Amino acid sequence: MRYHNITTDDMLNGDGLRTVLWVAGCTHHCEKCQNPITWDIDGGIEFDEAAEEELFQKLAYDHISGITFSGGDPLHPQNRAEVTRLAKKFREMFPKKTVWLYTGYTYEEIRGLEVVDFCDVIVDGEYIDAQSDPKLHWKGSANQRVIDVKETKRLNKIVLFD
Ligand code: SF4
Repeated sequence: MRYHNITTDDMLNGDGLRTVLWVAGCTHHCEKCQNPITWDIDGGIEFDEAAEEELFQKLAYDHISGITFSGGDPLHPQNRAEVTRLAKKFREMFPKKTVWLYTGYTYEEIRGLEVVDFCDVIVDGEYIDAQSDPKLHWKGSANQRVIDVKETKRLNKIVLFD
């Protein structure tokens, strides 16, 4: 897998202060995407052992609420295995912290993936510029959903996180 950045103390991509892994690769190509540089699956730099060490060091700080996978699309078919491994490892190391994941797929398209079991919140759907609103919380356009994964699984219907 390749990635573009690891940012931390992020307040915009999930609840609390978070560490965000920005992976490379996205096939959705949404019009007016703010991050088209991340579309190329071969872009960015390799997510190697040093990058993983940096990521987990940043995640270990007490004030960090959890990890957010963003991009690009963490659920690009070529990113799924690695993102699943990282989410599982994170869950085991930090059971009290949370996992958020942003994807251009709808929840219905990806709900059967193993990685969903390790997520607390999934923000789903492509960015639709006509439905964009800067006042939206944690998402860019109104069609996207901030989904409480555990409650959604428990009740077998989409439950939004708020
Ligand atoms: S899914 Fe996200 S990263 Fe991919 S094109 Fe759409 S807005 Fe950009």
